[in-house]
Parts: sequence; C-alpha cells; structure tokens
Amino acid sequence: MERVVLIKYGELTTKKGNRKFFINTLYQNIQKKLAGLNIKISRDISRMYIEFSEQEIDTVLKKINQVFGIHSYQIAYKIETDLDKIKELAIFSMKEKTGTFKVETKRVNKKFPIQSTEFSRQIGGLVLKNNSNLTVDVHNPDTTLTIEILDRYTYLYTDKYFGLGGYPVGVQSKGMLMLSGGIDSPVSGYLALKRGVKIDCVYFEAIPHTSIEARNKVIELTKKLCQYTDTIKLHIVPFTKIQEEIYKKCNPEYCITIMRRMMYRIMEKLAKRNKGLVIINGESIGQVASQTLTSMSVINAVTNMPVIRPVACLDKLEIIDISKKIDTYAISILPYEDCCTVFVPKHPVINPNISECLKNEEQFDYEKLIEETVNEVQTIVIHEEEKKEFASLL
Ligand code: ATP
Ligand code: MG
Repeated sequence: MERVVLIKYGELTTKKGNRKFFINTLYQNIQKKLAGLNIKISRDISRMYIEFSEQEIDTVLKKINQVFGIHSYQIAYKIETDLDKIKELAIFSMKEKTGTFKVETKRVNKKFPIQSTEFSRQIGGLVLKNNSNLTVDVHNPDTTLTIEILDRYTYLYTDKYFGLGGYPVGVQSKGMLMLSGGIDSPVSGYLALKRGVKIDCVYFEAIPHTSIEARNKVIELTKKLCQYTDTIKLHIVPFTKIQEEIYKKCNPEYCITIMRRMMYRIMEKLAKRNKGLVIINGESIGQVASQTLTSMSVINAVTNMPVIRPVACLDKLEIIDISKKIDTYAISILPYEDCCTVFVPKHPVINPNISECLKNEEQFDYEKLIEETVNEVQTIVIHEEEKKEFASLL
C-alpha cells in the first residue's frame, strides 16, 4: 500500500504576495535535503506531497524535521478515489488503534456520491464493526481518521506531526554570523536560519593563543548548523596581530571593548565582500561586561550595518535548552580557549565611553592591520556530517 508525506506549510502561508516564492524555496530546500533518496515531490498551493519508498521512511522523516518552513505533516495512505477501496483502507488503518475515535471527511471532489458527514458516519460504523477496542467520541477523540477525497486519489491519515516552523532558508538575504565556540552563537545562527536568513559564519582565531582544537570545535558547530540549511561558508579570521596590538597599546579595562569594535569593523568588510546584509551574533543583554546596553552601543557605533542578536533577550538557561535541542551543546562546552577568553582583563569596563575608545584606538594603525587581516581570511565550505569528505579549502 502506498504512503506519502503530506506537508503543510508554516508561517509562509500568511505571506500572501510572496507565497509562490516561499513555496518554491521550500520545495527546492526539501529536494536538496532529500537528494539521493528514492522520492518524488509534488506541490500545490496548500501543501506538498512526498512519495517515498517504505525502507527509507525514517531517513525521510529525520530530514524533513530539519527543514524550516514546515508547519506540520502527516503520513497518509494514498489510494484511488474508489468507494470500496476507501472503506477497506479505513478499516485497515484503524485496525491497531484503541480508545476513542472519530472520522472526518473532506470532500474536495464534489462528484464523489456521498456527502462528507454521511460518509464519516458510514466509515465510523464500519470501523467500529471491525475493531471492538474502539468507541466513538466526536468531541475529544484519541484518534481522528481524516479522509480527504480528491478527484483521482484519496488520502487517509490519523497522526499529525509538527515540523520546525519558521520560514524556508533563502527567502531572506544573507547574514554574517559571528560564530565562537561558545553556547550562544550557534543558537543565534539556528534562530536566524529559522527566519529564512542564509548565513555565512565568521570565526576569529588567535593562534598560538588559541588552539587548532578550538577551530575544529567551530567547524563541528558549523556542521551542526548545516543540518538546517545547505552548505555554509566558514571564514576564519587571523586575529592574533590585532589582538596583540590591542593588549600592548590599550588601557586593559578597554581591551575587550576595543577588540569587539575591531571585530565589528572586520565583520562589516567581510559582509560587503560576501554579500551579507547584516551581522548576527550571540550577544545577550547583561551576560558579560561587553554586553551591557552601554557596551553594545559603544561597540555598535563602528558600523551602520544592522546587528541582529537573536538571543539578546533570552536567559542563559533558555539558550542552553535550544542548544541541547539542536545538538550543539555538547560541542560548545568542550574546554578550548576562545580568543575572547584568552585575554580577559581583571576589570573590563562595564560602561565604556566612545571618546575613551577613540583615544585608545589612536595608539596603533588599526586600519592597516584590519586591511591585512581581511586579506588573509581563509574560507572553508562546510557540509553536513556525512559529506565531510567534501569539506574543501576555497
Ligand atoms: P558564545 O557562548 O556564543 O561564545 P559568549 O557568552 O561567550 O557567547 P562573548 O564571548 O562575549 O559571549 O561573545 C559574544 C558574541 O560575540 C558571541 O556569541 C559571538 O557571536 C561573538 N564572538 C565572540 N568571540 C568570537 C570569536 N572568536 N569568533 C567569532 N565570533 C565571536
Ligand atoms: Mg564566547
């Protein structure tokens, strides 16, 4: 017996004007995600149909659960619109069920000879006769058997599963995610992807003060994010010279503030090179000295580019919950030093002011250093775990 996955679109259905574009993007994303599997996808304005071979159902479902833009889905039996076949299938699909149930018919094909309510009643009677473990409850049933009668085919299903929701990745332009090895930034990347934003990741490293293991950690995190999109470019910024200059020349209390202003300046340049429209990061209000509102505004002052902070208003515990759900937590807590943690001063300034930043920044030729640094950025294309043999240097 043939089964298909029926996919209901998520929030995208509310965007009337863009609907076609959203659906096409989702369609392409699902197709890419399921590439290599024996499937066939078709679509109409209200949903998508995936035909699959039974032995691949687990893989198909696992992958569908990683695609944004899917509100919910059902695994439905598909059969010709033929009265006897539908009856037989209804009995079969309810054979193993216990408890209460009801039948709901959606008669899209008005040529079908029996009206919806009457048909539900008839099928309900048949199911009851064939399964003594069931009773009818039309208000709050344990199981609802839905029968959708279309022109050529009829779909029968009982269970509904929720997808990730959000918008299909690619319906928005690109954002540049500042990805450290910590807990917050991968979660921010996930949340940005959920809004349909494509991302490039940018990692600042300060070898030899930071290790190659720290870089590998960021690569692993990027792989996890790839599960929710296609490939992701990871730009690795050699930040050592700039950091050393800062720590040689600047007031220690201001080192972190200045360092982050340098990061933002570099982010802006990388965004322009890579067609990114916004910076995305894992800053969360009040979490550390550089994330007070005063710090954020002084750091943000170096760029006009919008900075999206998806976890700005979440508690750490809420961020951790998401990181566990998306499977980045275990990687994030591995103990390798990040460039931000290597040079943390004893008393970082909590309420920095701009003029003090400018005074410190006059102590070295940061523009030249930034230019050199940006020219030495290394870019890696990251693929999901199973395709890692394709990870390649550009
Ligand atoms: P996370 O847990 O994501 O590292 P955090 O709590 O450690 O965040 P910070 O180290 O202050 O916070 O950094 C705030 C944000 O700045 C990070 O979430 C990340 O977006 C960005 N960031 C920090 N260090 C780096 C880095 N080495 N490379 C890229 N981005 C970074
Ligand atoms: Mg960090």
